[in-house]
Amino acid sequence: MSLPLQDAAALRRLRRQLLRWYAANRRDLPWRETRDPYRIWVSEIMLQQTRVAAVLEHYRQFLLRFPTVYDLAAAREAEVLAAWSGLGYYRRARMLHRAAKVVAREYAGALPQSALALRELPGIGRYTANAIASIAFAEPVAVVDGNVERVLGRLLGRSPGSAEVWERAERLLDPERPGDFNQAMMELGATVCSPSSPACGRCPLRRSCSTKGRETAAGKLQSKRLQRSAVLGLALRGESILLRRRSKCESLMPGMWELPPVAARLRKKPLLTVKHSITQTDWTVRVFPASQSASLRGGRWIRLAEVSRQPLTGLTRKVLRKLELLP
Ligand code: SF4
Repeated sequence: MSLPLQDAAALRRLRRQLLRWYAANRRDLPWRETRDPYRIWVSEIMLQQTRVAAVLEHYRQFLLRFPTVYDLAAAREAEVLAAWSGLGYYRRARMLHRAAKVVAREYAGALPQSALALRELPGIGRYTANAIASIAFAEPVAVVDGNVERVLGRLLGRSPGSAEVWERAERLLDPERPGDFNQAMMELGATVCSPSSPACGRCPLRRSCSTKGRETAAGKLQSKRLQRSAVLGLALRGESILLRRRSKCESLMPGMWELPPVAARLRKKPLLTVKHSITQTDWTVRVFPASQSASLRGGRWIRLAEVSRQPLTGLTRKVLRKLELLP
């Protein structure tokens, strides 16, 4: 059997099955307990390219620090980046901050209520606009993220192109409950129709699925990850630590503070070795003690008590925590 996109009764049945499954199986996540468009927006931006488990604590802390769009709009960029530290993809935080200023200034603090208008804001593309509009404002617009694309590919039995996948998602969408339906599709992809081992026995859509777990182009694993290594220096002087600021022109994490790179001490044991993943690269990072007189371009001695308030890269925060230099 395949997707009943032309059969209205079968389509209604399929939507009902998926929504029933979602009601019984959905994970309790903090952004599902609110209809506040600002909170839903923050969650959608954080969840882009980041796992749910990694977002949970950041989401809580971020909203404690910036409970309303006005609080976010009034913050300095360095404060926003510091609160984002550890989530990666810092451009998202900058765009969120920029968009908050627009919402505070031009929309009296209330997010625009249609997907089309939301897409005018910085950092909001089709996926994010449709997610916010459907979940917060019940606009009948579908979402397509990696999970939805995989589920649809397997249901159809082939890998649809980008235009087709959006068109299929729109046809499948339940116009009565678009927010729940979109979240149900994403939840199904995240928890049942997983990339490497779909649990078809538990799937509410298996009767309409063309592949039932047989691999499709849409389900193939992504490209192999790169393996890299780096050596960083830890220089301490009294109550201060030497950090360097990444150039504003860097494509990754511009303007953020990090431990300086140093030459490897071949015969010495590192203070610490950590594994760290950034985008498509897995890093093995060794940290050695560095000279107190170390000076470097963009470097600055920063008091340890103040370090946690700086926008640190996720790797730097991880290293300093492991060395118990940060709480
Ligand atoms: S039946 Fe299996 S492959 Fe098909 S959508 Fe469900 S979990 Fe995915």
